[in-house]
Amino acid sequence: MSFIEINNLRKSFGNTEVLHGLNLKIARGQLAALLGPSGCGKSTLLRAIAGLNSIDEGEIIIDGRRIDGLAPKDRGLGMVFQHYALFPNMNVLDNVKFGLEMKGVDKKTRDTEAKKMIDLVGLAGKEEAYPANLSGGQQQRVALARSLVTKPDVLLLDEPLSALDAQIRVQLRGLIKSLQAELGITVILVTHDQEEAMSMSDYIFVMNQGHIVQEGSPTYIYRHPQSEFATRFIGDYN
Ligand code: ADP
Ligand code: MG
Repeated sequence: MSFIEINNLRKSFGNTEVLHGLNLKIARGQLAALLGPSGCGKSTLLRAIAGLNSIDEGEIIIDGRRIDGLAPKDRGLGMVFQHYALFPNMNVLDNVKFGLEMKGVDKKTRDTEAKKMIDLVGLAGKEEAYPANLSGGQQQRVALARSLVTKPDVLLLDEPLSALDAQIRVQLRGLIKSLQAELGITVILVTHDQEEAMSMSDYIFVMNQGHIVQEGSPTYIYRHPQSEFATRFIGDYN
Protein backbone atom coordinates (compact mmCIF):
# COMPACT_ATOMS: atom_id res chain seq x y z
CA MET A 1 0.00 0.00 0.00
CA SER A 2 1.16 3.53 -0.75
CA PHE A 3 2.18 5.80 2.08
CA ILE A 4 0.73 8.88 0.38
CA GLU A 5 -2.30 8.54 -1.84
CA ILE A 6 -4.14 11.34 -3.59
CA ASN A 7 -7.33 10.55 -5.43
CA ASN A 8 -9.12 12.73 -7.97
CA LEU A 9 -7.95 16.02 -6.50
CA ARG A 10 -9.60 19.07 -8.07
CA LYS A 11 -9.02 22.71 -7.28
CA SER A 12 -10.36 25.88 -8.86
CA PHE A 13 -9.63 29.51 -8.18
CA GLY A 14 -12.84 31.34 -9.11
CA ASN A 15 -14.05 29.84 -12.39
CA THR A 16 -10.63 28.55 -13.39
CA GLU A 17 -9.83 24.95 -12.56
CA VAL A 18 -6.06 24.61 -11.98
CA LEU A 19 -5.87 20.98 -10.78
CA HIS A 20 -7.92 18.66 -12.96
CA GLY A 21 -8.51 15.51 -10.95
CA LEU A 22 -5.00 14.41 -9.95
CA ASN A 23 -4.04 10.91 -8.77
CA LEU A 24 -0.71 10.22 -7.06
CA LYS A 25 0.73 7.37 -5.07
CA ILE A 26 4.05 7.68 -3.23
CA ALA A 27 5.80 4.90 -1.34
CA ARG A 28 7.10 5.40 2.21
CA GLY A 29 10.60 6.84 2.46
CA GLN A 30 10.79 7.94 -1.16
CA LEU A 31 11.62 11.35 -2.53
CA ALA A 32 9.05 12.16 -5.20
CA ALA A 33 9.42 15.20 -7.43
CA LEU A 34 6.57 17.22 -8.91
CA LEU A 35 8.28 18.52 -12.02
CA GLY A 36 6.74 20.99 -14.42
CA PRO A 37 6.91 24.52 -15.81
CA SER A 38 5.91 27.61 -13.90
CA GLY A 39 2.15 27.98 -13.51
CA CYS A 40 1.29 24.28 -14.01
CA GLY A 41 -0.13 23.90 -10.48
CA LYS A 42 2.77 22.44 -8.46
CA SER A 43 2.52 24.86 -5.54
CA THR A 44 -1.26 24.64 -5.49
CA LEU A 45 -0.99 20.86 -5.16
CA LEU A 46 1.63 21.07 -2.41
CA ARG A 47 -0.36 23.69 -0.52
CA ALA A 48 -3.45 21.50 -0.81
CA ILE A 49 -1.53 18.62 0.79
CA ALA A 50 -0.33 20.97 3.55
CA GLY A 51 -3.86 22.31 4.10
CA LEU A 52 -2.91 25.85 3.09
CA ASN A 53 -5.27 25.65 0.08
CA SER A 54 -8.73 24.15 0.30
CA ILE A 55 -9.67 21.50 -2.26
CA ASP A 56 -12.93 21.20 -4.19
CA GLU A 57 -12.96 17.47 -4.72
CA GLY A 58 -10.90 14.38 -3.98
CA GLU A 59 -9.07 12.87 -1.05
CA ILE A 60 -5.59 13.01 0.45
CA ILE A 61 -4.53 9.99 2.49
CA ILE A 62 -1.26 9.63 4.43
CA ASP A 63 -0.43 6.34 6.10
CA GLY A 64 -4.02 5.17 5.78
CA ARG A 65 -5.42 8.32 7.39
CA ARG A 66 -7.56 10.78 5.49
CA ILE A 67 -5.96 14.19 6.17
CA ASP A 68 -7.82 16.54 3.86
CA GLY A 69 -10.29 17.64 6.53
CA LEU A 70 -7.60 18.31 9.14
CA ALA A 71 -6.03 21.60 10.22
CA PRO A 72 -2.52 22.08 8.77
CA LYS A 73 -0.85 21.51 12.16
CA ASP A 74 -2.56 18.11 12.59
CA ARG A 75 -1.36 16.67 9.25
CA GLY A 76 2.09 15.52 10.42
CA LEU A 77 3.91 17.52 7.76
CA GLY A 78 6.95 19.76 7.58
CA MET A 79 7.29 22.35 4.85
CA VAL A 80 10.05 24.51 3.38
CA PHE A 81 9.45 27.19 0.75
CA GLN A 82 11.67 28.96 -1.76
CA HIS A 83 11.90 32.06 0.38
CA TYR A 84 13.16 31.40 3.84
CA ALA A 85 10.35 32.13 6.25
CA LEU A 86 12.58 32.44 9.31
CA PHE A 87 11.76 34.80 12.15
CA PRO A 88 14.28 37.65 11.73
CA ASN A 89 14.15 38.61 15.41
CA MET A 90 14.98 35.10 16.66
CA ASN A 91 18.35 33.40 16.57
CA VAL A 92 18.90 30.01 14.91
CA LEU A 93 18.20 28.01 18.06
CA ASP A 94 14.94 29.84 18.79
CA ASN A 95 13.83 29.55 15.16
CA VAL A 96 14.33 25.78 15.30
CA LYS A 97 12.73 25.45 18.74
CA PHE A 98 9.65 27.35 17.63
CA GLY A 99 7.92 24.33 16.14
CA LEU A 100 8.39 22.36 19.35
CA GLU A 101 6.97 25.14 21.51
CA MET A 102 3.81 25.05 19.42
CA LYS A 103 3.57 21.36 20.22
CA GLY A 104 3.92 21.88 23.96
CA VAL A 105 7.23 19.99 24.31
CA ASP A 106 9.00 20.81 27.62
CA LYS A 107 11.86 23.30 27.66
CA LYS A 108 14.76 20.92 28.23
CA THR A 109 13.69 18.51 25.48
CA ARG A 110 13.13 21.45 23.12
CA ASP A 111 16.72 22.53 23.64
CA THR A 112 18.26 19.10 23.13
CA GLU A 113 16.12 18.23 20.11
CA ALA A 114 16.73 21.59 18.44
CA LYS A 115 20.50 21.35 18.97
CA LYS A 116 20.55 17.83 17.54
CA MET A 117 18.73 18.99 14.44
CA ILE A 118 20.97 22.05 14.00
CA ASP A 119 23.90 19.67 14.14
CA LEU A 120 22.33 17.36 11.58
CA VAL A 121 21.90 20.17 9.03
CA GLY A 122 25.54 21.18 9.49
CA LEU A 123 25.07 24.38 11.50
CA ALA A 124 26.62 23.42 14.85
CA GLY A 125 28.13 26.58 16.35
CA LYS A 126 25.60 28.87 14.66
CA GLU A 127 22.91 28.53 17.36
CA GLU A 128 23.20 32.16 18.45
CA ALA A 129 23.38 33.67 14.93
CA TYR A 130 20.50 35.71 13.51
CA PRO A 131 19.05 35.01 10.03
CA ALA A 132 20.34 38.33 8.62
CA ASN A 133 23.90 37.18 9.34
CA LEU A 134 23.52 33.85 7.53
CA SER A 135 23.95 33.07 3.82
CA GLY A 136 20.96 31.95 1.76
CA GLY A 137 22.11 28.34 1.94
CA GLN A 138 22.54 28.52 5.72
CA GLN A 139 19.06 30.02 6.06
CA GLN A 140 17.58 27.11 4.13
CA ARG A 141 19.47 24.74 6.44
CA VAL A 142 17.76 26.46 9.37
CA ALA A 143 14.39 26.19 7.61
CA LEU A 144 15.01 22.45 7.10
CA ALA A 145 15.97 22.01 10.76
CA ARG A 146 12.90 23.90 11.89
CA SER A 147 10.51 21.83 9.81
CA LEU A 148 12.16 18.52 10.72
CA VAL A 149 12.57 19.04 14.48
CA THR A 150 8.96 18.00 15.09
CA LYS A 151 9.70 14.67 13.34
CA PRO A 152 7.10 14.94 10.59
CA ASP A 153 6.27 11.85 8.51
CA VAL A 154 6.37 13.88 5.33
CA LEU A 155 8.49 16.82 4.25
CA LEU A 156 7.07 19.15 1.58
CA LEU A 157 9.60 21.24 -0.31
CA ASP A 158 8.48 24.01 -2.67
CA GLU A 159 11.41 25.03 -4.87
CA PRO A 160 13.61 25.29 -1.76
CA LEU A 161 16.85 25.66 -3.70
CA SER A 162 15.88 27.86 -6.62
CA ALA A 163 17.02 31.12 -5.02
CA LEU A 164 20.51 29.73 -4.26
CA ASP A 165 23.79 29.79 -6.19
CA ALA A 166 24.58 26.69 -8.24
CA GLN A 167 27.34 25.47 -5.93
CA ILE A 168 25.28 25.89 -2.77
CA ARG A 169 22.34 24.23 -4.51
CA VAL A 170 24.40 21.10 -5.10
CA GLN A 171 25.43 21.00 -1.41
CA LEU A 172 21.83 21.34 -0.26
CA ARG A 173 20.66 18.63 -2.66
CA GLY A 174 23.11 16.32 -0.90
CA LEU A 175 21.91 17.45 2.51
CA ILE A 176 18.25 16.80 1.64
CA LYS A 177 19.10 13.32 0.34
CA SER A 178 21.04 12.50 3.51
CA LEU A 179 18.23 13.78 5.75
CA GLN A 180 15.77 11.65 3.77
CA ALA A 181 17.90 8.57 4.38
CA GLU A 182 18.86 9.30 7.98
CA LEU A 183 15.39 10.25 9.20
CA GLY A 184 13.50 7.86 6.92
CA ILE A 185 11.13 10.62 5.84
CA THR A 186 9.00 10.74 2.72
CA VAL A 187 9.69 13.88 0.70
CA ILE A 188 7.68 15.66 -1.97
CA LEU A 189 9.87 18.10 -3.87
CA VAL A 190 8.32 20.70 -6.15
CA THR A 191 10.70 21.90 -8.84
CA HIS A 192 10.78 23.27 -12.38
CA ASP A 193 14.41 22.16 -12.66
CA GLN A 194 14.76 18.92 -14.63
CA GLU A 195 18.31 18.32 -13.45
CA GLU A 196 17.28 18.71 -9.84
CA ALA A 197 14.40 16.24 -10.23
CA MET A 198 16.57 13.77 -12.14
CA SER A 199 19.42 13.86 -9.65
CA MET A 200 17.42 13.82 -6.41
CA SER A 201 14.26 11.82 -6.81
CA ASP A 202 13.27 8.19 -6.58
CA TYR A 203 10.12 8.91 -8.55
CA ILE A 204 8.95 11.79 -10.74
CA PHE A 205 5.51 13.14 -11.59
CA VAL A 206 5.70 15.33 -14.67
CA MET A 207 3.00 18.01 -14.49
CA ASN A 208 1.60 20.26 -17.17
CA GLN A 209 -1.43 22.56 -17.03
CA GLY A 210 -2.95 20.95 -13.97
CA HIS A 211 -2.50 17.37 -15.16
CA ILE A 212 0.06 14.69 -14.39
CA VAL A 213 1.24 13.84 -17.89
CA GLN A 214 3.75 11.15 -16.95
CA GLU A 215 5.21 9.40 -13.93
CA GLY A 216 8.00 6.95 -13.24
CA SER A 217 11.60 6.63 -12.10
CA PRO A 218 14.01 9.29 -13.40
CA THR A 219 15.66 6.83 -15.78
CA TYR A 220 12.34 5.55 -17.05
CA ILE A 221 11.06 9.04 -17.78
CA TYR A 222 14.29 10.06 -19.42
CA ARG A 223 14.29 6.99 -21.65
CA HIS A 224 10.59 6.81 -22.43
CA PRO A 225 9.08 10.29 -22.53
CA GLN A 226 5.45 9.54 -23.34
CA SER A 227 4.04 12.82 -24.49
CA GLU A 228 5.36 15.47 -26.78
CA PHE A 229 5.39 17.75 -23.75
CA ALA A 230 7.51 15.36 -21.67
CA THR A 231 9.92 14.93 -24.58
CA ARG A 232 10.36 18.65 -24.91
CA PHE A 233 10.51 19.32 -21.18
CA ILE A 234 12.78 16.44 -20.18
CA GLY A 235 14.75 16.72 -23.41
CA ASP A 236 16.38 19.91 -22.15
CA TYR A 237 18.16 17.83 -19.54
CA ASN A 238 21.40 16.13 -20.44
P1 ADP B 1 3.41 26.52 -10.07
O1 ADP B 1 3.74 26.36 -8.63
O2 ADP B 1 3.51 25.26 -10.85
O3 ADP B 1 4.21 27.62 -10.72
P2 ADP B 1 0.86 27.49 -9.08
O4 ADP B 1 0.29 26.32 -8.38
O5 ADP B 1 1.46 28.55 -8.27
O6 ADP B 1 1.88 26.98 -10.21
O7 ADP B 1 -0.28 28.14 -9.96
C1 ADP B 1 -1.13 27.38 -10.82
C2 ADP B 1 -2.17 28.32 -11.42
O8 ADP B 1 -3.07 28.75 -10.38
C3 ADP B 1 -1.59 29.58 -12.02
O9 ADP B 1 -2.34 29.91 -13.17
C4 ADP B 1 -1.80 30.61 -10.94
O10 ADP B 1 -1.92 31.89 -11.48
C5 ADP B 1 -3.10 30.16 -10.28
N1 ADP B 1 -3.17 30.50 -8.84
C6 ADP B 1 -2.35 30.07 -7.87
N2 ADP B 1 -2.72 30.55 -6.67
C7 ADP B 1 -3.80 31.33 -6.89
C8 ADP B 1 -4.67 32.11 -6.05
N3 ADP B 1 -4.47 32.18 -4.72
N4 ADP B 1 -5.69 32.74 -6.64
C9 ADP B 1 -5.90 32.68 -7.97
N5 ADP B 1 -5.15 31.97 -8.82
C10 ADP B 1 -4.11 31.30 -8.30
MG1 MG C 1 5.19 27.32 -7.46
